[in-house]
Amino acid sequence: MRTAGHDSAPSRSPDPAALAAAVRAAARAAGYEACGITTAEPFPEYAAAVDALGRAFPRTAPLYAPFRDRTDPRRGAPWAQALVVAVRRYSKYRLPPGPAGHIGRNYLCDRRLPACPDHAMTARLTAALRALGLRVKRGSGTSDRWAAARAGVARLGLNTFALTPASGSWINIECWRVNAALPPDPPTLDPPCPPGCRRCIEACPTGALRAPRVLRMDRCVAWLTYHAPWPVAPSLWRRMGPWIYGCDACQDACPLNRGVWTESEPAPWLEAVAALLRPEALAELTDADYRRKIHPLFWYIPEDGVERWRANARRALAYAAARGRGKPTTDGA
Ligand code: SF4
Ligand code: SF4
Repeated sequence: MRTAGHDSAPSRSPDPAALAAAVRAAARAAGYEACGITTAEPFPEYAAAVDALGRAFPRTAPLYAPFRDRTDPRRGAPWAQALVVAVRRYSKYRLPPGPAGHIGRNYLCDRRLPACPDHAMTARLTAALRALGLRVKRGSGTSDRWAAARAGVARLGLNTFALTPASGSWINIECWRVNAALPPDPPTLDPPCPPGCRRCIEACPTGALRAPRVLRMDRCVAWLTYHAPWPVAPSLWRRMGPWIYGCDACQDACPLNRGVWTESEPAPWLEAVAALLRPEALAELTDADYRRKIHPLFWYIPEDGVERWRANARRALAYAAARGRGKPTTDGA
């Protein structure tokens, strides 16, 4: 969920190669793991992938429709000539144990949180690009993951996530459209997956990951925990296991994520609420604690949706209890 930035009047160096080098240096200085460049041409492969999903799952086609409108970076920025694509890694954070395996790590480390130390990175790089004389619009106007692959800074795994060798899929991709014809980097469109690996597909609890790079969105546990119409269908609810907000099952199973979570930096914004992020506490969450402490951090469930949190947490607890008794699944709440 990106916010569009402001355009700015340019006045810049005429040497595209030097400008590209300056852009990469600015991204590193802003704190990004990597930065690549691709053209602002449309993304026909992404359009084809979205169309294929709509054909494969006609009942869920409306969920994919907004993505079909996002295949051309120049839509909304007709002057754009290149995409600057930066990789932010969050595998550096030391997470409190309470939410582990219950709340997706991406949400725990959300850079949009003002208290997250990475929060200022986006504004830093936007300002640096403008200081280089570039006209800038935040966002790729298309799939950031596909932009990352075409800019050569990540590869798309069969679980649909973008991965880098240093950080696996524990990354966010951020993009900027710019008005300079910067020289593009060689794309990395082939998957990084070992031959025959299907661990992510096998780990997916609801069968949302149907086949390599085929994700049925209305079955994905992440979507089911916070966005799906409520209540969730019992046939899916029973399979959502320990997940309360988000789901990392396909990423946890991925061998390319092994050993990349370094835990080298504290996450103080989470430590302050760590006790509340345990399933036991979330199952009993008060309205006041939800409004003041939880919703400001995790806002995909609306402010009046505390009961959804409680029910998700009760299901997670029931799942753990059933596993303790040797049963694989449970109806939970
Ligand atoms: S996030 Fe969970 S439910 Fe969604 S595709 Fe991955 S494993 Fe499946
Ligand atoms: S689990 Fe295997 S197939 Fe899936 S993304 Fe990771 S390496 Fe690729």
